[in-house]
Amino acid sequence: MGKMTTKKQFAVIGLGRFGGSICKELYKMGHQVLAIDVRDEKVNEYAPFATHAVIANTTDEKALQSIGIGNFEYVVVAIGDDIQTSILTTLILKEMNVPNVWVKAQNNYHHKVLEKIGADRIIHPEQDMGIRIAQHLTSEKIVDYIELSEEYSIVELLATSKIQNKSLVELNVRAKYGCTILAVKRGEAVNVSPLPNELIYEKDLLIVIGHKNDLKRFEEDGM
Ligand code: ADP
Repeated sequence: MGKMTTKKQFAVIGLGRFGGSICKELYKMGHQVLAIDVRDEKVNEYAPFATHAVIANTTDEKALQSIGIGNFEYVVVAIGDDIQTSILTTLILKEMNVPNVWVKAQNNYHHKVLEKIGADRIIHPEQDMGIRIAQHLTSEKIVDYIELSEEYSIVELLATSKIQNKSLVELNVRAKYGCTILAVKRGEAVNVSPLPNELIYEKDLLIVIGHKNDLKRFEEDGM
């Protein structure tokens, strides 16, 4: 979203499709990324897309220590199928006091164990992506979707001709629908504090926060 001002240190363990994309994206954004995998072919594959790439078995505490993993602010554990390996790796990282350990979970049991041993964030990529795709499928207007909680989310909505040339005052989204327009994107330009008299053009992207029911009402009836 916004431009990062401070560079954080990241390590990604497990360079499958999931970990691999995280590594590439962080690196592309200009962050320091250490890529780790037990397989040398994976490490070679990702070496061009990381600050450093090392071969290590992350269930080996000594190996992790010699990499200096304890100094990283964020470590992503993207070990796919091998739940035991994922759990053991997470446990070691938390014992080494890595402040933010984000782990990909395979299933609900895996999730529960990760929670118990102190994983800071547990990710279910397939489910999360499934929810997003469903949102995209059911409405042409919804461009992106972030779930904040069971009740609240942020959506990116494509402005229709119906609201073309209307100002935020006229739209009166907060009073009518109980949601708030946080920002308006027009091409590359992002206006993060749109003024009340600012006009919306068709194809603008509206970043809107609110209760899911309210967002749905605005999206269906308000635009
Ligand atoms: P995805 O579904 O995201 O493609 P994979 O299961 O294919 O996930 O990828 C997991 C990666 O984690 C593999 O590249 C694998 O070599 C790596 N991995 C598995 N065990 C370890 C371990 N003990 N230490 C480091 N990396 C590991």
